[in-house]
Amino acid sequence: MEKIQIPEDVYDMVIIGGGPAGLTAGLYTARAGFKVLLIEGTAAASQITVTDMIENYPGFPEGIGGFELVEKFKKQSVQFGLELIMADVHTLAAGQWSDVKGWEVTTDSGVYGALAVIVATGTQWRKLDVPGEETYLGKGVSYCATCDGPFYRNRDVVVAGGGDTAIQEALFLTNFAKKVTVVHRRDRLRATDILQKRAFANEKIAFQWRSVIEEISGGNFVEKIRVRDVDQKDSVTEIPAEGIFIFIGTTPKTDLLRGICELDENGYVITNSHMQTSAKGIFACGDCIQKLLRQVVTACGDGATAAHAAQLYVEDLKGEAY
Ligand SMILES: Cc1cc2nc3c(=O)[nH]c(=O)nc-3n(C[C@H](O)[C@H](O)[C@H](O)COP(=O)(O)OP(=O)(O)OC[C@H]3O[C@@H](n4cnc5c(N)ncnc54)[C@H](O)[C@@H]3O)c2cc1C
Repeated sequence: MEKIQIPEDVYDMVIIGGGPAGLTAGLYTARAGFKVLLIEGTAAASQITVTDMIENYPGFPEGIGGFELVEKFKKQSVQFGLELIMADVHTLAAGQWSDVKGWEVTTDSGVYGALAVIVATGTQWRKLDVPGEETYLGKGVSYCATCDGPFYRNRDVVVAGGGDTAIQEALFLTNFAKKVTVVHRRDRLRATDILQKRAFANEKIAFQWRSVIEEISGGNFVEKIRVRDVDQKDSVTEIPAEGIFIFIGTTPKTDLLRGICELDENGYVITNSHMQTSAKGIFACGDCIQKLLRQVVTACGDGATAAHAAQLYVEDLKGEAY
Protein backbone atom coordinates (compact mmCIF):
# COMPACT_ATOMS: atom_id res chain seq x y z
CA MET A 1 0.00 0.00 0.00
CA GLU A 2 1.35 3.45 -0.88
CA LYS A 3 1.95 5.89 1.98
CA ILE A 4 0.42 9.35 1.64
CA GLN A 5 1.82 12.70 2.82
CA ILE A 6 -0.26 14.36 5.50
CA PRO A 7 0.45 17.94 6.64
CA GLU A 8 1.89 17.98 10.16
CA ASP A 9 -0.88 20.10 11.63
CA VAL A 10 -3.64 17.75 10.49
CA TYR A 11 -4.83 15.49 13.28
CA ASP A 12 -5.56 11.80 12.81
CA MET A 13 -8.79 12.34 14.72
CA VAL A 14 -10.65 15.30 16.17
CA ILE A 15 -13.18 14.35 18.84
CA ILE A 16 -16.03 16.79 19.50
CA GLY A 17 -17.37 16.45 23.06
CA GLY A 18 -15.82 16.02 26.49
CA GLY A 19 -18.35 13.69 28.13
CA PRO A 20 -18.01 9.94 28.80
CA ALA A 21 -18.31 9.04 25.07
CA GLY A 22 -15.77 11.58 23.79
CA LEU A 23 -13.28 11.03 26.62
CA THR A 24 -13.39 7.24 26.17
CA ALA A 25 -12.79 7.68 22.43
CA GLY A 26 -9.91 10.01 23.39
CA LEU A 27 -8.45 7.44 25.78
CA TYR A 28 -8.50 4.65 23.19
CA THR A 29 -7.17 6.67 20.25
CA ALA A 30 -4.44 8.49 22.23
CA ARG A 31 -3.33 5.26 23.93
CA ALA A 32 -3.10 3.63 20.49
CA GLY A 33 -0.57 6.33 19.52
CA PHE A 34 -2.71 8.52 17.23
CA LYS A 35 -2.48 12.30 17.04
CA VAL A 36 -5.78 13.30 18.58
CA LEU A 37 -7.45 16.55 19.61
CA LEU A 38 -10.53 16.55 21.85
CA ILE A 39 -12.65 19.70 21.77
CA GLU A 40 -14.82 20.15 24.84
CA GLY A 41 -17.64 22.69 24.53
CA THR A 42 -17.86 25.74 26.78
CA ALA A 43 -21.53 26.56 26.18
CA ALA A 44 -22.77 23.45 28.03
CA ALA A 45 -20.94 20.82 30.05
CA SER A 46 -21.33 17.03 29.90
CA GLN A 47 -24.81 16.08 31.13
CA ILE A 48 -23.37 13.76 33.74
CA THR A 49 -21.53 16.57 35.54
CA VAL A 50 -24.86 17.89 36.85
CA THR A 51 -25.77 14.78 38.82
CA ASP A 52 -24.49 14.36 42.35
CA MET A 53 -24.49 10.57 42.51
CA ILE A 54 -24.14 7.76 39.95
CA GLU A 55 -24.94 4.35 41.37
CA ASN A 56 -25.00 2.30 38.18
CA TYR A 57 -21.54 2.81 36.67
CA PRO A 58 -19.59 -0.39 37.36
CA GLY A 59 -16.51 -0.25 39.57
CA PHE A 60 -17.84 2.27 42.09
CA PRO A 61 -19.88 0.27 44.64
CA GLU A 62 -20.32 3.34 46.87
CA GLY A 63 -21.37 5.48 43.90
CA ILE A 64 -19.53 8.47 42.48
CA GLY A 65 -20.42 12.09 41.67
CA GLY A 66 -20.80 12.93 37.96
CA PHE A 67 -18.26 15.74 37.99
CA GLU A 68 -15.71 13.58 39.81
CA LEU A 69 -16.18 10.72 37.32
CA VAL A 70 -15.61 12.99 34.30
CA GLU A 71 -12.47 14.42 35.95
CA LYS A 72 -11.16 10.84 36.32
CA PHE A 73 -11.95 10.10 32.65
CA LYS A 74 -10.04 13.27 31.67
CA LYS A 75 -7.00 12.47 33.80
CA GLN A 76 -6.82 8.96 32.37
CA SER A 77 -7.02 10.02 28.71
CA VAL A 78 -4.70 13.04 28.98
CA GLN A 79 -1.96 10.88 30.52
CA PHE A 80 -1.82 8.94 27.24
CA GLY A 81 -1.19 12.10 25.22
CA LEU A 82 -4.69 13.28 24.32
CA GLU A 83 -4.69 17.01 23.49
CA LEU A 84 -7.71 18.68 25.03
CA ILE A 85 -9.01 22.20 24.41
CA MET A 86 -12.12 24.08 25.49
CA ALA A 87 -13.97 25.59 22.52
CA ASP A 88 -17.34 25.41 20.81
CA VAL A 89 -17.44 23.80 17.39
CA HIS A 90 -19.56 25.79 14.95
CA THR A 91 -19.15 23.96 11.64
CA LEU A 92 -17.84 20.81 10.10
CA ALA A 93 -16.90 20.80 6.41
CA ALA A 94 -15.07 18.56 3.98
CA GLY A 95 -11.34 19.34 3.78
CA GLN A 96 -8.60 18.33 1.38
CA TRP A 97 -4.80 18.51 1.65
CA SER A 98 -3.19 17.63 -1.76
CA ASP A 99 -4.55 14.13 -2.39
CA VAL A 100 -5.78 13.55 1.20
CA LYS A 101 -9.45 14.01 2.06
CA GLY A 102 -10.60 14.75 5.58
CA TRP A 103 -12.65 17.24 7.59
CA GLU A 104 -12.24 20.81 8.80
CA VAL A 105 -13.60 21.55 12.24
CA THR A 106 -14.24 25.24 12.85
CA THR A 107 -14.38 26.47 16.43
CA ASP A 108 -14.49 29.92 18.03
CA SER A 109 -10.72 29.63 18.58
CA GLY A 110 -9.44 28.18 15.31
CA VAL A 111 -9.89 25.66 12.51
CA TYR A 112 -8.58 22.11 12.92
CA GLY A 113 -8.01 19.57 10.17
CA ALA A 114 -8.57 15.86 10.78
CA LEU A 115 -8.60 12.66 8.78
CA ALA A 116 -11.50 11.41 10.89
CA VAL A 117 -13.96 13.11 13.24
CA ILE A 118 -15.70 11.50 16.21
CA VAL A 119 -18.85 13.38 17.24
CA ALA A 120 -19.88 12.92 20.89
CA THR A 121 -21.93 16.04 21.51
CA GLY A 122 -24.63 14.52 23.73
CA THR A 123 -28.06 16.03 24.30
CA GLN A 124 -29.66 19.10 25.82
CA TRP A 125 -32.73 19.61 28.04
CA ARG A 126 -36.14 19.55 26.45
CA LYS A 127 -38.18 22.58 27.45
CA LEU A 128 -41.80 22.67 28.59
CA ASP A 129 -42.49 25.60 26.25
CA VAL A 130 -44.98 27.24 28.58
CA PRO A 131 -45.41 30.88 29.58
CA GLY A 132 -42.99 31.84 32.37
CA GLU A 133 -40.34 29.21 31.55
CA GLU A 134 -37.99 31.72 29.87
CA THR A 135 -38.95 34.65 32.11
CA TYR A 136 -38.11 32.80 35.32
CA LEU A 137 -35.00 30.97 34.13
CA GLY A 138 -32.53 31.37 37.02
CA LYS A 139 -35.31 32.91 39.12
CA GLY A 140 -36.98 29.65 40.08
CA VAL A 141 -36.83 27.68 36.81
CA SER A 142 -33.96 25.18 36.69
CA TYR A 143 -32.80 22.14 34.72
CA CYS A 144 -30.16 21.09 37.29
CA ALA A 145 -30.96 20.01 40.84
CA THR A 146 -27.30 19.58 41.79
CA CYS A 147 -26.50 23.13 40.70
CA ASP A 148 -29.54 24.89 42.15
CA GLY A 149 -31.05 22.53 44.78
CA PRO A 150 -29.27 24.15 47.76
CA PHE A 151 -31.01 27.49 47.00
CA TYR A 152 -34.35 25.89 47.89
CA ARG A 153 -33.72 24.99 51.52
CA ASN A 154 -37.07 24.75 53.38
CA ARG A 155 -38.99 25.82 50.28
CA ASP A 156 -41.63 24.09 48.18
CA VAL A 157 -40.57 22.99 44.71
CA VAL A 158 -42.11 21.20 41.73
CA VAL A 159 -40.41 18.59 39.58
CA ALA A 160 -41.76 18.07 36.04
CA GLY A 161 -41.33 14.53 34.65
CA GLY A 162 -41.60 10.88 35.65
CA GLY A 163 -38.49 9.17 34.27
CA ASP A 164 -35.25 8.13 35.99
CA THR A 165 -33.72 11.60 35.90
CA ALA A 166 -36.85 13.33 37.27
CA ILE A 167 -37.21 10.91 40.19
CA GLN A 168 -33.49 10.76 40.96
CA GLU A 169 -33.38 14.54 41.08
CA ALA A 170 -36.64 14.79 43.08
CA LEU A 171 -35.05 12.53 45.69
CA PHE A 172 -31.93 14.70 45.73
CA LEU A 173 -34.05 17.83 46.19
CA THR A 174 -35.60 16.39 49.38
CA ASN A 175 -32.20 17.05 51.02
CA PHE A 176 -33.09 20.75 50.88
CA ALA A 177 -36.73 21.40 50.03
CA LYS A 178 -39.66 21.28 52.47
CA LYS A 179 -41.87 19.58 49.90
CA VAL A 180 -41.28 18.27 46.38
CA THR A 181 -44.35 17.85 44.15
CA VAL A 182 -43.75 15.63 41.13
CA VAL A 183 -46.08 16.59 38.27
CA HIS A 184 -46.42 13.80 35.74
CA ARG A 185 -48.72 13.49 32.72
CA ARG A 186 -49.33 9.76 33.27
CA ASP A 187 -50.74 7.79 36.22
CA ARG A 188 -47.50 5.92 36.90
CA LEU A 189 -43.77 6.60 36.76
CA ARG A 190 -41.39 5.50 34.03
CA ALA A 191 -38.44 5.50 36.46
CA THR A 192 -36.77 2.22 37.48
CA ASP A 193 -38.29 0.24 40.33
CA ILE A 194 -35.68 1.08 42.94
CA LEU A 195 -36.09 4.84 42.37
CA GLN A 196 -39.89 4.53 42.47
CA LYS A 197 -39.74 2.68 45.80
CA ARG A 198 -37.48 5.33 47.30
CA ALA A 199 -39.71 8.13 46.03
CA PHE A 200 -42.95 6.57 47.31
CA ALA A 201 -41.34 5.99 50.72
CA ASN A 202 -40.14 9.60 50.99
CA GLU A 203 -42.55 11.71 53.04
CA LYS A 204 -41.39 14.94 51.42
CA ILE A 205 -42.46 13.83 47.92
CA ALA A 206 -46.04 14.31 46.71
CA PHE A 207 -47.40 13.34 43.28
CA GLN A 208 -49.78 15.20 41.00
CA TRP A 209 -50.74 12.52 38.48
CA ARG A 210 -52.13 12.92 34.98
CA SER A 211 -51.40 16.61 34.94
CA VAL A 212 -49.58 18.95 32.61
CA ILE A 213 -47.87 22.21 33.50
CA GLU A 214 -49.49 25.16 31.79
CA GLU A 215 -47.88 28.24 33.26
CA ILE A 216 -45.14 29.33 35.64
CA SER A 217 -45.89 32.64 37.34
CA GLY A 218 -44.88 34.92 40.19
CA GLY A 219 -43.35 38.32 40.96
CA ASN A 220 -39.56 38.66 40.81
CA PHE A 221 -39.27 34.92 41.42
CA VAL A 222 -41.51 31.91 40.79
CA GLU A 223 -44.51 31.74 43.13
CA LYS A 224 -46.90 29.26 41.58
CA ILE A 225 -47.24 26.56 38.94
CA ARG A 226 -50.54 26.15 37.12
CA VAL A 227 -51.35 22.58 36.11
CA ARG A 228 -54.25 21.15 34.13
CA ASP A 229 -55.76 17.70 34.55
CA VAL A 230 -55.26 15.61 31.42
CA ASP A 231 -58.71 13.92 31.71
CA GLN A 232 -60.86 16.75 33.05
CA LYS A 233 -59.70 19.61 30.90
CA ASP A 234 -61.49 22.30 32.95
CA SER A 235 -59.83 21.17 36.18
CA VAL A 236 -56.92 23.52 36.91
CA THR A 237 -54.81 23.58 40.08
CA GLU A 238 -52.25 26.12 41.23
CA ILE A 239 -49.34 24.64 43.17
CA PRO A 240 -47.56 27.19 45.38
CA ALA A 241 -43.82 26.71 44.76
CA GLU A 242 -40.70 28.84 44.70
CA GLY A 243 -38.89 26.61 42.25
CA ILE A 244 -39.56 24.26 39.36
CA PHE A 245 -37.07 21.68 38.09
CA ILE A 246 -37.76 20.42 34.57
CA PHE A 247 -36.70 16.89 33.57
CA ILE A 248 -38.90 15.93 30.65
CA GLY A 249 -36.27 14.45 28.37
CA THR A 250 -33.61 15.66 26.04
CA THR A 251 -32.92 16.47 22.38
CA PRO A 252 -29.65 15.72 20.57
CA LYS A 253 -27.04 18.42 19.89
CA THR A 254 -26.48 17.46 16.28
CA ASP A 255 -27.13 20.64 14.27
CA LEU A 256 -23.47 20.48 13.21
CA LEU A 257 -24.21 17.33 11.22
CA ARG A 258 -27.32 18.53 9.39
CA GLY A 259 -26.77 18.09 5.66
CA ILE A 260 -23.57 16.10 6.31
CA CYS A 261 -24.81 12.73 7.50
CA GLU A 262 -28.08 10.95 8.12
CA LEU A 263 -30.10 11.89 11.21
CA ASP A 264 -33.38 10.34 12.35
CA GLU A 265 -36.65 12.31 12.60
CA ASN A 266 -35.72 13.46 16.14
CA GLY A 267 -32.23 14.58 15.12
CA TYR A 268 -30.29 11.61 16.55
CA VAL A 269 -27.35 10.46 14.40
CA ILE A 270 -27.86 7.18 12.60
CA THR A 271 -24.78 4.97 12.87
CA ASN A 272 -24.02 1.36 12.11
CA SER A 273 -22.74 -0.98 14.82
CA HIS A 274 -19.20 0.39 14.24
CA MET A 275 -20.45 3.91 15.06
CA GLN A 276 -19.88 4.96 11.45
CA THR A 277 -22.23 7.63 10.14
CA SER A 278 -23.34 7.89 6.53
CA ALA A 279 -20.48 10.38 5.90
CA LYS A 280 -17.08 8.88 5.22
CA GLY A 281 -14.64 9.58 8.06
CA ILE A 282 -17.29 10.78 10.52
CA PHE A 283 -18.11 8.58 13.50
CA ALA A 284 -20.59 9.33 16.28
CA CYS A 285 -21.10 7.93 19.77
CA GLY A 286 -22.87 8.43 23.08
CA ASP A 287 -26.21 10.11 23.78
CA CYS A 288 -26.31 11.94 20.41
CA ILE A 289 -26.86 8.73 18.39
CA GLN A 290 -30.05 6.78 17.77
CA LYS A 291 -30.07 3.99 20.39
CA LEU A 292 -32.06 2.35 23.17
CA LEU A 293 -30.24 3.29 26.39
CA ARG A 294 -28.57 6.64 27.09
CA GLN A 295 -26.28 6.10 30.08
CA VAL A 296 -22.63 6.59 31.00
CA VAL A 297 -21.79 2.93 30.55
CA THR A 298 -23.27 2.78 27.03
CA ALA A 299 -21.64 6.13 26.10
CA CYS A 300 -18.24 4.69 27.11
CA GLY A 301 -18.87 1.51 25.11
CA ASP A 302 -19.87 3.51 22.02
CA GLY A 303 -16.80 5.74 22.47
CA ALA A 304 -14.46 2.75 22.50
CA THR A 305 -16.10 1.29 19.38
CA ALA A 306 -16.00 4.63 17.53
CA ALA A 307 -12.32 5.01 18.45
CA HIS A 308 -11.45 1.57 17.14
CA ALA A 309 -13.40 2.04 13.91
CA ALA A 310 -11.82 5.47 13.38
CA GLN A 311 -8.35 3.96 13.95
CA LEU A 312 -8.95 1.33 11.26
CA TYR A 313 -10.27 4.02 8.91
CA VAL A 314 -7.24 6.31 9.44
CA GLU A 315 -4.72 3.47 9.12
CA ASP A 316 -6.37 2.44 5.89
CA LEU A 317 -6.32 6.02 4.61
CA LYS A 318 -2.62 6.35 5.44
CA GLY A 319 -1.82 3.02 3.81
CA GLU A 320 -0.69 1.57 7.14
CA ALA A 321 -3.29 -1.14 7.63
CA TYR A 322 -2.04 -4.68 7.93
C1 LIG B 1 -29.56 14.73 35.82
C2 LIG B 1 -29.00 13.52 35.12
C3 LIG B 1 -28.72 12.38 35.81
C4 LIG B 1 -28.15 11.28 35.16
N1 LIG B 1 -27.85 10.17 35.90
C5 LIG B 1 -27.23 9.12 35.31
C6 LIG B 1 -26.84 8.00 36.09
O1 LIG B 1 -27.07 7.93 37.30
N2 LIG B 1 -26.20 6.98 35.45
C7 LIG B 1 -25.91 7.02 34.12
O2 LIG B 1 -25.28 6.08 33.62
N3 LIG B 1 -26.30 8.06 33.35
C8 LIG B 1 -26.95 9.11 33.91
N4 LIG B 1 -27.33 10.19 33.15
C9 LIG B 1 -27.12 10.13 31.68
C10 LIG B 1 -25.66 10.52 31.32
O3 LIG B 1 -25.43 11.83 31.78
C11 LIG B 1 -25.45 10.45 29.82
O4 LIG B 1 -25.85 9.22 29.31
C12 LIG B 1 -23.96 10.70 29.46
O5 LIG B 1 -23.48 11.89 30.00
C13 LIG B 1 -23.78 10.69 27.94
O6 LIG B 1 -22.45 10.96 27.63
P1 LIG B 1 -22.04 11.69 26.26
O7 LIG B 1 -20.56 11.76 26.29
O8 LIG B 1 -22.72 11.06 25.11
O9 LIG B 1 -22.68 13.16 26.36
P2 LIG B 1 -22.42 14.30 27.43
O10 LIG B 1 -21.91 13.71 28.70
O11 LIG B 1 -23.64 15.13 27.51
O12 LIG B 1 -21.24 15.16 26.81
C14 LIG B 1 -21.44 15.95 25.66
C15 LIG B 1 -20.19 16.78 25.43
O13 LIG B 1 -20.27 17.42 24.16
C16 LIG B 1 -19.87 18.78 24.27
N5 LIG B 1 -20.45 19.53 23.16
C17 LIG B 1 -21.74 19.58 22.75
N6 LIG B 1 -21.85 20.38 21.66
C18 LIG B 1 -20.59 20.81 21.37
C19 LIG B 1 -20.03 21.67 20.38
N7 LIG B 1 -20.78 22.24 19.42
N8 LIG B 1 -18.70 21.90 20.41
C20 LIG B 1 -17.88 21.32 21.35
N9 LIG B 1 -18.36 20.51 22.31
C21 LIG B 1 -19.69 20.27 22.32
C22 LIG B 1 -20.35 19.19 25.66
O14 LIG B 1 -19.68 20.33 26.12
C23 LIG B 1 -19.98 17.92 26.44
O15 LIG B 1 -18.61 17.99 26.81
C24 LIG B 1 -27.91 11.31 33.77
C25 LIG B 1 -28.22 12.46 33.04
C26 LIG B 1 -28.75 13.56 33.70
C27 LIG B 1 -29.08 14.78 32.92
